[in-house]
Amino acid sequence: MKDIKGILKRLQIQDINPGVSTGQDFWEGKGKHVISWSPVDGSEIAQVTMASAEDYRRVIDCSQSAFKVWRAKPAPIRGEIVRQIGHALREYKTELGTLVSYEMGKSLQEGMGEVQEMIDICDFSVGLSRQLYGKTMHSERPNHRMYEQWHPLGTVGIISAFNFPVAVWSWNAMIALVCGNVCVWKPSEKTPLTALACQHIIKRVFAHNDIPEGVVGLVCGEREIGELMAQDPKINLLSATGSTRMGRSVAEQVGQRLGKCLLELGGNNAIIVTPGADFSVAVPGIVFGAVGTAGQRCTSTRRVIAHESIYEILKTQLVKAYSQLKIGNPLDEHIHVGPLIDKAAVDQYQSTVDVLRQKQQKFLVEPEVLKGDPYSSGCYVRPCIVEVEHNLEIVHQETFAPILYLMQYTDLNEAIAIQNEVPQGLSSSIFTLNMREAEQFLSAAGSDCGIANVNIGTSGAEIGGAFGGEKETGGGRESGSDAWKAYMRRQTNTINYGHGLPLAQGIKFDLE
Ligand code: NAD
Repeated sequence: MKDIKGILKRLQIQDINPGVSTGQDFWEGKGKHVISWSPVDGSEIAQVTMASAEDYRRVIDCSQSAFKVWRAKPAPIRGEIVRQIGHALREYKTELGTLVSYEMGKSLQEGMGEVQEMIDICDFSVGLSRQLYGKTMHSERPNHRMYEQWHPLGTVGIISAFNFPVAVWSWNAMIALVCGNVCVWKPSEKTPLTALACQHIIKRVFAHNDIPEGVVGLVCGEREIGELMAQDPKINLLSATGSTRMGRSVAEQVGQRLGKCLLELGGNNAIIVTPGADFSVAVPGIVFGAVGTAGQRCTSTRRVIAHESIYEILKTQLVKAYSQLKIGNPLDEHIHVGPLIDKAAVDQYQSTVDVLRQKQQKFLVEPEVLKGDPYSSGCYVRPCIVEVEHNLEIVHQETFAPILYLMQYTDLNEAIAIQNEVPQGLSSSIFTLNMREAEQFLSAAGSDCGIANVNIGTSGAEIGGAFGGEKETGGGRESGSDAWKAYMRRQTNTINYGHGLPLAQGIKFDLE
């Protein structure tokens, strides 16, 4: 990419970067020296020195002292700092969005969209900083007052996945910060540069406001650093985004120490298309959901469950839409599908395709690993569609690639049962103009997912709602609504302003 050098310079990314920071202070980690490759063209972008266990402990210790200072600032003052972070992100949106696209491989528009999401969560958090409400209750005892208040937890650890290399961190960090917590971020080892760029952007805001070291820490590192975080009682909340395999390990280790974690794990998202669906919204909704970010969103559409009466026509329209997809450099705005993150992801795509062939499932759009120019990075694949039996084991697993499963149903109850039969429970949609069908899908007997949409695809959530899913997706909620409560501890206070000591439940305890 021709102007990448200028972009890196503006984001303060050098050829070799210290991968550990407590704010103003950046230092070379004693862990591995890692090269960040672009899946777009296979170029080396820059190198990062990852954190060792010792570097990690230094960042955590610093965060613990910073917490004492940060929690003492009134929440609206903390909100003001977050407002300035949002402003700084606006200033660097083009550069950061471009780096997200180049390092991760998503389209430039999606890269920009990710930074916009960071700006949006800053704005949301600023408002939230004046709305961390607790309730007041009527006491059953005379001359007593009861209320609850919310206090910060301490150090919030954030482990993020490669596919949303910056937005997921900001969902957690901005809310955690206004709540009075300090944070330590371990980004994906596949996208360390975008994380470093964020830390540099924040550094300027913190320097300007005289914020102490340790309020926002960064530890670039591999899985082992994530494991240290899971085991560490100094991490008061661990928010972990990634695969179900990772989440299971984190939950076990945090559970061992009876700590708190917030898990945002894999999805296996379905769209139900009913006889009354408006195809002019259903077809683009399915295609964007299935091939956007090359099928590497946790909310990507993986399964389409179509009514038998419209199955053939939907099939024809999807195949036609797939024939128009342009695959290539995601920084070109005419391209619909960019690369997968790396060659290991291509291998996973291929092994799922092999299983589907072995099971004699019928491909409607053939899969292909693309070679030659402009696919020389070896990370490009063709999005495919395959007609499947809904209960195959492979269909119940999340393959993080653009493979779309098509299946049919006769009755809506059956469609909902198929939608719910997978172990994951993140996002789901129905396309219908029939109010009864829509309400059935949204009812307690309908979708069992954390997100259930009508006439919208499964991906592309807004920050205002609480984001997350059920079952193997981990049960966590982040971002909007009252998700902030996970980042605070609730304290119930009862105050006796009378002269006696009446006991609750009318219990008598009279001393002579
Ligand atoms: P991954 O699980 O391989 O890695 C995610 C992060 O966890 C990385 O930072 C990694 O270093 C760390 N990690 C891995 N094993 C760990 C362990 N045992 N202990 C502690 N940390 C560990 O996932 P990925 O390939 O980067 O991302 C893709 C996955 O993330 C998909 O399953 C996708 O659905 C999921 N995801 C979920 C959401 C959501 O909000 N539900 C959002 C984005 C991605």
